[in-house]
Amino acid sequence: MKYTESVFEDLSKRYSYQPMFLQSVEEVLTSIDPLVVGHKEYEDAALLERLVQPERTVSFRVPWVDDTGTVRVNRGWRVQFSSALGPYKGGLRFHPSVNMDTVKFLGFEQIFKNSLTGLPMGGGKGGSDFNPKGKSDVEVMRFCQSYMTELFRHIGADTDVPAGDIGVGNREIGYLFGHYKRLTNQFTGVLTGKGLSYGGSLIRTEATGYGIVYLAEAILKDHQDSLEGKKVLVSGSGNVAIYTIEKLCQLGACPLTASDSDGWIYDPHGIDFESLKEIKEKRRGRVSEYVDTHPHAEYHEGGCLWDIEADLAIPAAIQNEITLDKAKLLLKNGVKYLIEGANMPTLLNATKLLAEQGVYIAPSKAANAGGVATSGLEMTQNAERLSWSAEEVDAKLNTIMTNIYQNAARAAEEQGNRDNLIAGANMAGFKKVADAMMAQGIV
Ligand code: NDP
Repeated sequence: MKYTESVFEDLSKRYSYQPMFLQSVEEVLTSIDPLVVGHKEYEDAALLERLVQPERTVSFRVPWVDDTGTVRVNRGWRVQFSSALGPYKGGLRFHPSVNMDTVKFLGFEQIFKNSLTGLPMGGGKGGSDFNPKGKSDVEVMRFCQSYMTELFRHIGADTDVPAGDIGVGNREIGYLFGHYKRLTNQFTGVLTGKGLSYGGSLIRTEATGYGIVYLAEAILKDHQDSLEGKKVLVSGSGNVAIYTIEKLCQLGACPLTASDSDGWIYDPHGIDFESLKEIKEKRRGRVSEYVDTHPHAEYHEGGCLWDIEADLAIPAAIQNEITLDKAKLLLKNGVKYLIEGANMPTLLNATKLLAEQGVYIAPSKAANAGGVATSGLEMTQNAERLSWSAEEVDAKLNTIMTNIYQNAARAAEEQGNRDNLIAGANMAGFKKVADAMMAQGIV
């Protein structure tokens, strides 16, 4: 049995109750096999056994009091997966579905994503099963303060630097940062995604969405094509989806859809970015409200938005949204490029079908790395006590995304198929981490 297979078999037995974590590991181990074969030194150093085991996991209770005076108890986690390349770095997700499986799959993905950015960041992720939706600002603040009361002892500007993710935006980062500062009496760059008035970076809010579109642009250019006039299906209407839609419009493409957990909208004229932002980011409303001001658009409760003719699909909501059935709809509707905006939005059998049918797939590790890359730029600005202009950060983001594409495509090409960006991204990300782990000894 191959080394990658035996490591996966052992992990599968041990963590059969963590299917998403196993899914993310399986995808990586399968891709990196050609880099591992012939490297007996990896096996001798138990490199893969160490790579798939987090350096540290922290699990804690988060008690808080709601507006009616009732005591609530949520669960919190932080997984510090790998510090081979730098301090642990990765977001916090607040969503009722979060558990250790979620946090481990996201943390594992983060190792390779951060490696791809070329910046000195290890991989980590955290979160809670707390649902900020429908809570008052004061309730969210009390929760964040309680969460940080435990988390603060595990993080630091040179140790572990969390950021946002689903359910954790500017408001939550502000409350978390304020409490960290109070507990430690230190004003440091311990979190990224901060407000501009207290150490945040320009373009960080937009970075993940913009980066996704910069990567798509680089891919299309390499295929003698462009985004101009392309029809795009986007899911989600949160931070990533909103700024993906904005940048698509700026580059001449036509984003047709957006969604939330209740339903989805279809605007044949192209989604009006400003309206969507106003509804979802400012008012914390629902996408259904879009049709109130855009009567030519359609709102569909539930159901699925992937059954519309388009050139590109960008799932930007949650993991495992693209099932086999949805992959078949994408094929039926002529989609040629799947750009993964959310983390692991495609099931392995759906990925296989799409790839076999010639759909170009840009994996989330590469596609959404612009968020953490700009967080890395925020860390540098904090360390220098400087703020760079929006143009400067945006230009750096664009360069990083183009480099990610070039490096991953080159790694894929070395294995005989430049268009297999899934394998290319995993291999390019893995190589750097493996080199660092080998150099650092058995730790
Ligand atoms: P947000 O919380 O801002 O938005 C999440 C979106 O997904 C919302 O529109 C939400 O709808 C929708 N959603 C949540 N659960 C479901 C569900 N079960 N079914 C359908 N839609 C759902 O999160 P982000 O935009 O920040 O994150 C989106 C994805 O991008 C995640 O996979 C995240 O890990 C990834 N990502 C985010 C980065 C960032 O910088 N923010 C960086 C890299 C990756 P509703 O309003 O109903 O909750």
